[in-house]
Amino acid sequence: MQKINDLIQTLNEAQYKAATANPGHQLIIAGAGSGKTLTLVCRIAWIHSAFDCPLSRILAVTFTNKAANTIKNRIQDALNIPMYSAWIGTFHSICHKLLRQYHYEFKINQHFQIIDQEDQLRLIKKIQQELKIDEKITPARKTQYFINQQKENALRASNTKQEHHYNLDMQLVYERYETLCRQSDLFDFNELILKVTETLSQQPELAKQFQNQFQYILIDEFQDTNCLQYTLIKQLAGEQTSISVVGDDDQSIYSWRGAKVDHILSFENDFPNVTTTRLEQNYRSTKHILEAANSLIANNSNRLGKTLWTDSEKGELITIFNAVNEQEEARYLVDNILNNQQNDISLTSQAILYRSNAQSRVIEEHLTRAGISYVVYGGLRFFERAEIKDSLAYLRLIVNPNDNQAFERIVNVPARQIGQASIEKLRQIARTNQISLWQSIILSDQEKNLLPTRTLQALKMFAEQIDTLREKMTHTSASELAEICLQTTGLIQLQEKQPPETAKTKLENMQELINAICQYEKDNNDLSPSLLLAKFISETTLDTHKDDKSESNDNVQLMTLHSAKGLEFHTVFLTGMEEGLFPHKRSITEQRELEEERRLCYVGLTRAKVKLHITHAEYRRLYNQENYQRPSRFLNEIPTEHCTRTANQMAQSASYSTQPYESFIPEQHDHTPWRLGAHVNHAKFGFGVVLNFEGQGKTGRVQVKFQNHGVKWLLIDYANLETC
Ligand code: ATP
Ligand code: MG
Repeated sequence: MQKINDLIQTLNEAQYKAATANPGHQLIIAGAGSGKTLTLVCRIAWIHSAFDCPLSRILAVTFTNKAANTIKNRIQDALNIPMYSAWIGTFHSICHKLLRQYHYEFKINQHFQIIDQEDQLRLIKKIQQELKIDEKITPARKTQYFINQQKENALRASNTKQEHHYNLDMQLVYERYETLCRQSDLFDFNELILKVTETLSQQPELAKQFQNQFQYILIDEFQDTNCLQYTLIKQLAGEQTSISVVGDDDQSIYSWRGAKVDHILSFENDFPNVTTTRLEQNYRSTKHILEAANSLIANNSNRLGKTLWTDSEKGELITIFNAVNEQEEARYLVDNILNNQQNDISLTSQAILYRSNAQSRVIEEHLTRAGISYVVYGGLRFFERAEIKDSLAYLRLIVNPNDNQAFERIVNVPARQIGQASIEKLRQIARTNQISLWQSIILSDQEKNLLPTRTLQALKMFAEQIDTLREKMTHTSASELAEICLQTTGLIQLQEKQPPETAKTKLENMQELINAICQYEKDNNDLSPSLLLAKFISETTLDTHKDDKSESNDNVQLMTLHSAKGLEFHTVFLTGMEEGLFPHKRSITEQRELEEERRLCYVGLTRAKVKLHITHAEYRRLYNQENYQRPSRFLNEIPTEHCTRTANQMAQSASYSTQPYESFIPEQHDHTPWRLGAHVNHAKFGFGVVLNFEGQGKTGRVQVKFQNHGVKWLLIDYANLETC
């Protein structure tokens, strides 16, 4: 109790009142870094200790696994009790836990598996091919988005019909997709939530059971809940349940995924006697950082409106670095991180944030070269690596042979002479007979002439291999089984054929997978190997934040701006601040979308406690294309008194500090042979890059930045520039 008291004592008056309030509904609406999450943590600790409420009766939901872990750790610290009975997680992980624990009530196969976005897309592609849908007219990604949107709106394929008759193709794919997922017991992310909400509305007695269980429901990052999630909250809340929601309209960054900031407004109408708390003091950042963020977000028109203040010191100015290109930008990050390390700033307290995942590769290369260890959150994470996905697919198939996704992934990995044509034949048999691919092998064995003998032989050998492994499950632990599986199926030998460096990393990763299963066994020793594996595999698919390096190590934190929500770091590097990249090119034309990008930028700026670096490059090679990049308009929205600007000699640092945004949009001339950003060679000045051009004919001029001679305007007719 002493520890909780110590924690509660740190709260200001408004926070204290909210954390220790009597049971009832609460809305805490406040800006970044004002202690919303801290108040929520204290509230949970208080409910548990002062109201004597067991953790199993408290449900706390947040947006990312990393944020959920932070909340868990903070509560564990305060209460000093193990947290395994606590229901703290994301909407997905909470629903996953409910479905696993109450699979009987939800009438689902207890060995159900989760498919991630990539698997989902692959499945949709396959269905589209099967239905002969032209990828050019209806790209699989568009259908994926459509299906996810339908599910977020709680619409099954059968309900979608009337509403989307104009798009029959996507409708058909959705229907087929539903059938296939049901047949193979596969759940995509939205399905986890949809299945729960659907069942609860059909079975009020089950809903009642949960309503009685959850006495308190607390939701962090409430501004980003979508309709389905909000429905779930309403279903889980009984008359005796107290709900606390915590949010910030300025940090709503998921409207593209159906999140509705309006829920903040409707909450007061949907629940009786809501106590609303506003927090306006920011405890996280220095004055320079906070005021920069306040000024930026003031450019948005659609806000509830609030201004945060802090009594912390002004702190260091924000550094804006103008790099020549993405390589230079990465070198800047490395230099500063090393410098910080020398000044005793741990790697873990330094974060590199970016708008698009693809930006991380170059940064990762530079960090690796400099020997700086790092973790990537939400990028190509450990469980998404090909060798790990292959290994997991084998385990999935052992647990549930009807898992078509897993089957297709590994039936010919390593190569077993089962080509695409054979698989297509197997698919046809499965489709005609409404059975799984696995069952199609059995059928083909019984009824001759369905498959060519050679193909059938190869498939039977594969099936026998899986069967043998499954039999082992009765007397072998899950981790031993995994090890035997990797050995006997040839996955390990397959990696050994790769170049030595690649093979080494891949084998290490596979070893790490076995370690992870071992660890999981220790934590779940009451489960049978098959259930343990099923649960382990699902959680790995759900957990977007596991990586091969443990969290306790000292690693620089790399993540997209979306994943950074709710977190804080001593030093933040906000990279790629360029038009088209951030704000993203898809969002520039629509005011509503641009405002969401600005909120995302606000989230980025407010992650920094002490030092903020913002970087942008003049040229960026991304997606295998090199482009001339203009600095982001957001840079102009940060008052100059909070910043200091630095640039490499090659970079044209004056461009945005002295000119308004529009003035550095170079004119584009369709007839000119010059492309902005083109590399050219001049007999006297050497290598350079085209920055601008104007006029035509005899007066046509081109502006070039030369590596060793600065920026020059040249008459095109006389310059004799060679493109290179
Ligand atoms: P975000 O909007 O980014 O999620 P938040 O409102 O949830 O932010 P917290 O993460 O809870 O803010 O708090 C920000 C920082 O301020 C944390 O380091 C927290 O410990 C500290 N803090 C919050 N309230 C107080 C307080 N009353 N006294 C001292 N420090 C505080
Ligand atoms: Mg928070």
